[in-house]
Amino acid sequence: MGTECSHGETELLGEQKGERGTNKYYRCLRCGNVLVLSEEGILYEIPGKRAPSDLKGIRTSSD
Ligand SMILES: [Zn+2]
Repeated sequence: MGTECSHGETELLGEQKGERGTNKYYRCLRCGNVLVLSEEGILYEIPGKRAPSDLKGIRTSSD
């Protein structure tokens, strides 16, 4: 599957309230994957090509 990206450079897409707290969504600037950080500190990863291009319902931090 190639080399793994360490996701060293990310941008915050926004955050979304879930059942267990607020999830924060980041996109890696290097590989384009979307990273989801739960309030519990668990990190999920969505491959860039599978991530929705339009993350509806996610509030930006400016909200
Ligand atoms: Zn990455």
